[in-house]
Amino acid sequence: MSTHDAAPEYETTSPRALVVGAGAAGVRASIELVERGVPPEDVLVLGKRAHGDAHTTWARGGINGALGTRDPEDDWTIHAADTLKEGHFLNEPSKVETVAREAPERLRELDDWGMDYSRTEDGAIDQRYFGAQSYRRTAFAGDHTGESLLETLIDRARSLGVPYREHVAVTRLVTDGRDRGGRVLGAAGYDQDTGEFLLFDADAVVLAAGGYTSVYDRHSSRDDENTGDGPALALSVGARLADMEFVQFHPTGMVGDRYGDEWDGRLVTEAVRGEGGRLYNADGERFMERYSPDQMELDARDVVARAIAREITAGRGTDAGGVRLDVSHRDRAFIRERLPRMYERFDSLGVDLAAAPVEVAPTAHYGMGGVVVDDDGETDVDGLYAVGETMAGVHGANRLGGNSLAETVVYGRIAGAAVADRLDGAASTPTPTPHRAARTHFADLQATTDRDGAFDPAAVFEELRATMESHVGIRRDAEGLAAGLSALEDLRERAERLSTGDRTGRAFETALNLGHALTVAEAVLRGALRREESKGAHYRADATEADPDWDRRTVVERDSVGALRLDTERLDEPTPAVRAALDADHELDYHQLE
Ligand SMILES: Cc1cc2nc3c(=O)[nH]c(=O)nc-3n(C[C@H](O)[C@H](O)[C@H](O)COP(=O)(O)OP(=O)(O)OC[C@H]3O[C@@H](n4cnc5c(N)ncnc54)[C@H](O)[C@@H]3O)c2cc1C
Repeated sequence: MSTHDAAPEYETTSPRALVVGAGAAGVRASIELVERGVPPEDVLVLGKRAHGDAHTTWARGGINGALGTRDPEDDWTIHAADTLKEGHFLNEPSKVETVAREAPERLRELDDWGMDYSRTEDGAIDQRYFGAQSYRRTAFAGDHTGESLLETLIDRARSLGVPYREHVAVTRLVTDGRDRGGRVLGAAGYDQDTGEFLLFDADAVVLAAGGYTSVYDRHSSRDDENTGDGPALALSVGARLADMEFVQFHPTGMVGDRYGDEWDGRLVTEAVRGEGGRLYNADGERFMERYSPDQMELDARDVVARAIAREITAGRGTDAGGVRLDVSHRDRAFIRERLPRMYERFDSLGVDLAAAPVEVAPTAHYGMGGVVVDDDGETDVDGLYAVGETMAGVHGANRLGGNSLAETVVYGRIAGAAVADRLDGAASTPTPTPHRAARTHFADLQATTDRDGAFDPAAVFEELRATMESHVGIRRDAEGLAAGLSALEDLRERAERLSTGDRTGRAFETALNLGHALTVAEAVLRGALRREESKGAHYRADATEADPDWDRRTVVERDSVGALRLDTERLDEPTPAVRAALDADHELDYHQLE
């Protein structure tokens, strides 16, 4: 640890492997590092919140892996085929296949580490239906799967002695300065409790900082989570982003007008529909019969979300602005066992899930886009890895529910292993130090707090959210997208003149989050404007059909003056085994649930 002469002062720590983010992906990476022989004192995991309080804990419904507990005919190739179909073949087949192939082993490993899965009468890991999956392959712990998963991983990491530092925000990655093909040297940030500047001088950095859906007004995460830190930090040092325009709107978010603003957009887990929940409009019509007579409520999320949005726009929504989700035909005991957290939540709001419907409408839930990585999870920047919701590639144009938790543990392990190998072979390589870049960055941050700003960061953030909701929401068109981009210019100008207060305050963090969010928002808007077709979660009202010329993904990078440049890229073909599963055309028969 050292302190340097030039103001402002900062503390330096030198872990060899720095993991930014302590959700399932980051913690799983850290476990692998230590299990592969990296001494725990050479690893450091950081998070903005208290340990155990990552967004992962909000995941409810389950985690996918073709264990075949309930449906022995399921296997990983069918899981991969379902994922590619749901992603409209804009996923990277190699990443999809890796997740599908390795997920069963990761699920069993979690079992060995003590995860409290819900079980069958025989004690096997139980599996439920989730939308657009051919078989029951979603393993779960009641409806608190994310909580149980993260607890299990943290217990494991603690038993291995992995160090964790909480309430630390990384504000910049530090590289050797080259635009493309540069090398990561560490990360700079600050302690949110004391305001102290921190420099992490590391040989490798794993970015596991979550996604970007809270750039929307109605979203299913907390306001200060999922602000796009991971993609924005990576982009700023030369990594590329892909698929940013694909934002999944979950069909069933709570409706604020009915339950109160603090609940607006919060998720009603897909497990409610997986356990038989039905959707009705205000006229009492089970409207999915019109949109998807075979798969009904369990069709792909984009299909169900657009159907709900159409019902509401057509005036068949409830007075509070939603539709009704009803699982009351199931026994109370069944609901309490399979959906305990949902039951308790609505009970506390005076609604009996076993007797009455709840009101729901679509909510921004998952950004399929993220940082481009190779098969080891490494970005274009040497030594910089990205995993979990921060990485791109697995989900394509739309994500299957239950696949993101699977991705966190599969790619967390892979990146942890790759970093461990890298450190093993690089013990004596001298590296430049990150101090100069860090000093400049800290001076910039200091200047932000020193000046008298004119605008409240939270208010500007709210405007950004409203802009995204209206210009690049479920339904998009060229005019609205262009207007969204020009609104962004104005927001950027205001973001240059924020009143942040000191570094321990809420406003300072919000200002930093806003910086990340603005970058990500621009990537989403530009991608959506360029993609002149409708596919998966991206629906253009002025180009409603899928266009085969657009069987490509969008890729964003910064050019030499820092502006975003957008390109497109073709994807590989699946392997023959997965092609065969695709050709077999497995499909969920929803009516088994009736
Ligand atoms: C309500 C809800 C329900 C869901 N249900 C399911 C489900 O049933 N099944 C499923 O598969 N998926 C589900 N998902 C998605 C899934 O939960 C996430 O994709 C997954 O948990 C992401 O894990 P992660 O480790 O990548 O990131 P996160 O769990 O989001 O963790 C990010 C970490 O990075 C830290 N961080 C962020 N920025 C910084 C920074 N600048 N500096 C330092 N640290 C930083 C955070 O503090 C946190 O520790 C759900 C999502 C939501 C919102």
